[in-house]
Amino acid sequence: GKRLPQYLERGVDVKFTDVAGLGKIRLELEEIVKFFTHGEMYRRRGVKIPGVLAGGTWEGLWEIRLIVVIVSFMPQTVLVCAASGILLCGPPGVGKTLLAKAVAGEAGVNFFSISASQFVEIYVGVGASRVRSLYQEAKENAPSVVFIDELDAVGRERGLIKGSGGQERDATLNQLLVSLDGFEGRGNVITIASTNRPDILDPALVRPGRFDRKIYIPKPGLIGRMEILQVHARKKPMAEDVDYLAVAGMTDGMVGAELANIIEVAAINMMRDGRMEITTDDLLQAAQIEERGMLDRKERSP
Ligand code: ATP
Repeated sequence: GKRLPQYLERGVDVKFTDVAGLGKIRLELEEIVKFFTHGEMYRRRGVKIPGVLAGGTWEGLWEIRLIVVIVSFMPQTVLVCAASGILLCGPPGVGKTLLAKAVAGEAGVNFFSISASQFVEIYVGVGASRVRSLYQEAKENAPSVVFIDELDAVGRERGLIKGSGGQERDATLNQLLVSLDGFEGRGNVITIASTNRPDILDPALVRPGRFDRKIYIPKPGLIGRMEILQVHARKKPMAEDVDYLAVAGMTDGMVGAELANIIEVAAINMMRDGRMEITTDDLLQAAQIEERGMLDRKERSP
C-alpha cells in the first residue's frame, strides 16, 4: 500500500483571523493564498502554472488569457508566482508558525512541517535524505505548504561552520537547494521557512527563485498586543468589561506566545477562585507572572 506521509500535520485549521496584530503583513500572506487557490483552479482544468500555454486545453487557454489580464493589474501577484520560498523572519513566539499554518488553512492545502534542527544529524546523508522525503511527500500530496522551522540551523552560511558536523550540514543544505529548485509546477508546493537570524543564512538560499521573499515580523506594539489578547480571549469566558488596552499596556516587550499564555494563566486564576468569568484583574496578575518569567528567561540566555 501507500506509505503514510511522515511530515504531514493533520487537522491544521488555522485561519488568518487567528493571527492578530500583524497589520499589512497579513495582506502579503493573503496574496500567497490567492495564488494557491487560483493555481488549484487551473490544475483542476488540466492546466499547469505558469507558462505552459502550449499544453493547455481550449478551455484552459481562455482562463489563462483571463489571468494574464488579472495578473498584469496585480504586479505583487507576479512576484509571488516567481518565488518558490517565503522567509518569515522575527524573534521567537511572534506567530511565524501560526502564520504559515494559516496560509495552508486558508488555501485548504496540506501542511508539511519540519524543524531544521531535525535535519542536522551526526551521520552524513541522513539530513539530506529527510529533506528529500519531505519534498517527495509534499509533492505527492500537493497542493501543499512546506514549513521549515529554524532554517538557520541548516542554512547557516557554509563558511561559518567549524569543526565536525559541517560536512553533514553541507550535504543537507545542498539537498534543500536542489529541492527548492526542482519544481516544474512550482505553484503546487510553496515553502515557508522561519528564522530569527536571516543575517547568517547562506547567500545561496536567498537567491532569486529560492527564499527570495523576506517578510519581517516584529514584536507587536501596544495595539497589536491588545488584538492578540482579544483573539485568545475569544475562546474563554471573559467578563464583559475587560480592559484589554490596560493589559496590553502592562505587557511591553511581550510576544504572541507570551500573551496567549497570559489568557491561560488568567483562566486558571478564575477557576481557582470558583468564578465564572475572567476579569481584568486576573489578566493583570497573569501578566505580572508572565513578566517575571520573561525576565528570568532573559537572565538565563546570554
Ligand atoms: P518560534 O520561532 O519560537 O517557533 P513562532 O514565531 O513560530 O515562534 P508561534 O509558534 O507561531 O511563534 O507562536 C506560538 C503561539 O503563540 C501560537 O500558537 C499562538 O497561540 C500564539 N501567538 C503567537 N503570535 C500570535 C499572533 N500574532 N496572534 C495570535 N496568537 C499568536
